[in-house]
Amino acid sequence: MSFRAPVPEYEFLLNHIVGFGQVAATEKFAEASGDLTSAILNEAGKLCDEVMAPLQRAGDMQPAELVSGVLRSSPGYAEGWAAIAEGGWIGMSAPEAHGGMGLPMALTSCVNEMMSGACLSLQLAPLMSQGQIEALAHHASDALKDLYLPKLISGEWAGTMNLTEAQAGSDVGALASKAEPNGDGTFAISGQKIFISWGDNDFCSNICHLVLARLPDGVPGTKGISLFLVPKFLPDENGDAGVANALKVVSLEHKMGLHGSPTCVMQYDGATGWLVGHEHGGMAAMFTMMNNARLGVGGQGIGAGEGAYQQALDYALERKQGRSESGTIVDHADVRRMLMTMKADLFAARAIMLSCAVAIDMQAATGQAASQADWAARAAFLTPIAKSFGTDTGISVADTGVQVHGGMGFIEETGAAQFLRDVRVTAIYEGTNGIQAMDLVARKMMDGGDMANRLMDEIEEQAERARTTHPNMAESVWQACESLREATDWLVAQDAMNDRFAGAVPYLRAFARVLGGHFHLTAAMADLGGPREKLARFYITRLLPEHAGLLAHAQAGAAGAYALTLEELTG
Ligand SMILES: Cc1cc2nc3c(=O)[nH]c(=O)nc-3n(C[C@H](O)[C@H](O)[C@H](O)COP(=O)(O)OP(=O)(O)OC[C@H]3O[C@@H](n4cnc5c(N)ncnc54)[C@H](O)[C@@H]3O)c2cc1C
Repeated sequence: MSFRAPVPEYEFLLNHIVGFGQVAATEKFAEASGDLTSAILNEAGKLCDEVMAPLQRAGDMQPAELVSGVLRSSPGYAEGWAAIAEGGWIGMSAPEAHGGMGLPMALTSCVNEMMSGACLSLQLAPLMSQGQIEALAHHASDALKDLYLPKLISGEWAGTMNLTEAQAGSDVGALASKAEPNGDGTFAISGQKIFISWGDNDFCSNICHLVLARLPDGVPGTKGISLFLVPKFLPDENGDAGVANALKVVSLEHKMGLHGSPTCVMQYDGATGWLVGHEHGGMAAMFTMMNNARLGVGGQGIGAGEGAYQQALDYALERKQGRSESGTIVDHADVRRMLMTMKADLFAARAIMLSCAVAIDMQAATGQAASQADWAARAAFLTPIAKSFGTDTGISVADTGVQVHGGMGFIEETGAAQFLRDVRVTAIYEGTNGIQAMDLVARKMMDGGDMANRLMDEIEEQAERARTTHPNMAESVWQACESLREATDWLVAQDAMNDRFAGAVPYLRAFARVLGGHFHLTAAMADLGGPREKLARFYITRLLPEHAGLLAHAQAGAAGAYALTLEELTG
């Protein structure tokens, strides 16, 4: 397939929709001028189109494998990783003091997203390293930072995150891995982790695992968990990969997709590790990594959706079937409906992701405590929405992509099915979308709905401004936002958390729908008479109304979900 990184789309969003100008206006990100941004996006686009996209099928057809305990990556992946590393793309937003580029997360999000569209399996590798770099930069000792960060940033070494155990998935606090002090400042880590993405590879000279484990005096649950850095090879006196540590890949999972990314069962048998952050402070340190990764996974969904959209459009332009103006299926109304829905939803999801990234950048760049806290709250609120809506959109777009292909969508050679198989996991890992939605209606609403209401104020103010040029669209967005406000008030008033949780997923989706309406309306105002105005009309007229059904569901409470007894469910 040929993938075309959607660079003009990112530029339009950054320049006209999500307020990237305010990021570039800060001292911290003063270098991120329009020219530099454009150069970066185009350069990354070339890497995606020419190097990564050709690896997409190779990973699917020839998955990574474990041969006598040694991991063999898919063909071409070593060269793909080298190209990503040489371009400096792993450390785009990493601290400059350790060899990173210190660029805004908004730009990294664009680059990560386009790489996901080109080859999701390979892109997951640098994403894992980026999360680890961020966690170490914030929580590790200076000695660990000096030793590990330059190598992780350059791509000489790679990073992983090890949370999941067989009995500890969504409930991370149930983990059983142990850490015993060795008496020399290091710890002996023992236990088994499952589902570890890129737990090994054959193109980096060391793999650095961030492992959650419990110290002997760690209390049960999340409060007793600590975070450790456990390398595959112990660094020697020169800081190079030395003798092997006591850990190994036991096996690889057989998955429905994402075959190029080895998903490993890892065994730690007294492996030497170094504490990152405070004793029993593992979850706080891990959250630094997970927030970054959640936004990144949202971008994975959007990127894979973009790839699926492009492929479906190419097919629709060629496939002759039925009577239509051009003779191809692209002129059938239902095919147009599918293509327009894909494009409109990708725009909405991408705008949400980038507005979250802008909030993260402003949080990092603003010195004043009050406004920094505001940006932090905004980023925290938008993260679960960006993760869930980005990945749900990727899945629905990839599914529609199969449908556009008709029977050929079900046949593997076209590659349409691969997008769907690959992207499906993004709604599951990094906290399932159900867990994201519960986070939104519980932890992110501990402010009594303040952040939600502030976002809704902005949406309504923008709709008021749009009334002069786009009265009908503006009214639709304003009304939808009012309905969302009522539902938010209802949710916040529910003291029984299960009443919130039962409607959390539809509420999150409704919030995303309204945000999508807001961003499309903003695009219509910026592109009077242009294609973005037409796409906005499609979204606001046909997709935004979904919010009404979602909000009815969101406010129905928990009792109805338990209405059938377990016997009746099975009966
Ligand atoms: C391909 C792949 C790669 C992965 N990579 C990594 C990795 O690199 N590192 C890592 O540590 N892990 C990784 N994971 C693990 C992943 O993060 C977990 O699968 C995920 O967190 C869900 O945990 P689980 O599979 O145990 O599902 P469960 O926690 O058993 O969840 C099953 C269902 O129950 C729901 N559920 C669970 N608890 C609750 C609750 N309290 N309230 C409401 N609903 C609930 C879930 O939403 C889900 O729908 C990966 C998984 C896969 C498949």
